[in-house]
Amino acid sequence: MNKIVVVGGGAGGMELITKIGKRLGKTGKAEITLVDICNHHIWKPLLHELATGSLDEGTNAVDYQVHGTNNGYIYQRGALTGIDRENRQIILAPLYSSDGRLILNERRLDYDYLVIGIGAISNDFGIPGVKEHAFTLDLTEQAMTLRERIQHQFMQHATGQRQGKMKVAIVGAGATGVEMAAELHHMDHTLRRYGYQLEKDLLDLTIVEASDSVMPALPKSDLRKAVHDKLIEIGVKVATNTMVTEVSETGLSTKDGNFIEADLVIWAAGVKAPEVLATLGLEVNRANQLMAADTGRTLSDERIFTFGDCACIPQPDGSFLPPRGQTARQVALMVGTNLIRLNSNPNAKMDSYIYKDLGSFVNLAHFNTIGNMFSFFHGGLQLAGSPARFVYASLYRRHILALHGPLKGSMILMIHGLNRLLRPQLKLW
Ligand SMILES: Cc1cc2nc3c(=O)[nH]c(=O)nc-3n(C[C@H](O)[C@H](O)[C@H](O)COP(=O)(O)OP(=O)(O)OC[C@H]3O[C@@H](n4cnc5c(N)ncnc54)[C@H](O)[C@@H]3O)c2cc1C
Repeated sequence: MNKIVVVGGGAGGMELITKIGKRLGKTGKAEITLVDICNHHIWKPLLHELATGSLDEGTNAVDYQVHGTNNGYIYQRGALTGIDRENRQIILAPLYSSDGRLILNERRLDYDYLVIGIGAISNDFGIPGVKEHAFTLDLTEQAMTLRERIQHQFMQHATGQRQGKMKVAIVGAGATGVEMAAELHHMDHTLRRYGYQLEKDLLDLTIVEASDSVMPALPKSDLRKAVHDKLIEIGVKVATNTMVTEVSETGLSTKDGNFIEADLVIWAAGVKAPEVLATLGLEVNRANQLMAADTGRTLSDERIFTFGDCACIPQPDGSFLPPRGQTARQVALMVGTNLIRLNSNPNAKMDSYIYKDLGSFVNLAHFNTIGNMFSFFHGGLQLAGSPARFVYASLYRRHILALHGPLKGSMILMIHGLNRLLRPQLKLW
């Protein structure tokens, strides 16, 4: 029986493991294992909501161990640190508790087919001070640490123990930065409703962007303008064409010689694949992404596949797939189909992936949602407000349905809907 190991249970990995777990694991056709450094899954495009407390990790997290038992796969907690390709084994780093105690020694897991989908981490582009002084949103733990820091700062202002404006700088005006800015303003509004005595216009929030526009990846300039105008309307300052050269404890230095004061810096300026990928003996590009064919198979090893933010997959026009939730999911599911075929016939013909941009949406908390649908067809259909919010939310709905099936998934979504009505809008502890 083949052993299939998937490393990374993120936006793409969870849909892949559920698919092959049900088709191969549950039916005894293959042994399926998921490896992840975390013990639970939260859909990454929601991390900014986790960081402000809009999202409750208790009701949204999926426990890998339990999900694996219900869906035909084994879960192993650990961080991928190496591959022994000769013996077809992956190596997992020793696991330590948060107070530094050794829990598990280094382990090796056998594989016949290996899939690597460990996502991306923030790229600091070697800019001094980012690692030391800026917050990033790569993992649940980072979002939770950031939440604590934001909440403490609001509390200090509410009790008068911190004076003046609450100065926040977000570097990067892509989806993460823009959505985080809107969430922070939403948090500011909501805390006032919960009785926090906050000075008028307390939040002094600047988004800093090196290119000439917010949301540079949005296909249409009028959409980018709509996002820009909404940000200004809710009180966000937008500094485009501004290159950060250094981050310090008190703010950002920029290439044009200015200094933007900030008590809190959030770094959302771009991503690269985790450094470990460059140490595995597999071909990678400059952003550490694994070089792969459009079937998801890595160029270095026909038994190793990849997808999502950590994969560099070419398209017929010579471009490469963008690091987005949409592509992670679609390629992961295609890799699942290919593995199901290979499991019964090692020479089976495999599917290839051609990217069709189904659209991009940006959710500005409760202020507005703006985006474009079916961008591949005559430039697509532009949406804003409730219809856009519905489409945006449907991406997460589809993810939940894929993970839990139509019946349980619908019940979970109903509970999420009820929670939004019944629970406080912000989780403050
Ligand atoms: C705040 C925010 C908002 C976003 N909004 C959007 C959006 O609106 N639209 C959109 O298309 N995209 C959005 N994205 C990007 C989107 O989240 C990613 O493109 C998508 O999650 C990539 O999926 P993935 O499966 O490749 O990786 P991920 O979802 O990042 O999953 C990677 C998994 O690998 C695990 N892992 C990491 N390293 C290791 C290791 N060494 N060993 C074992 N496991 C490991 C991680 O714990 C994680 O579970 C957003 C991202 C953020 C942070």
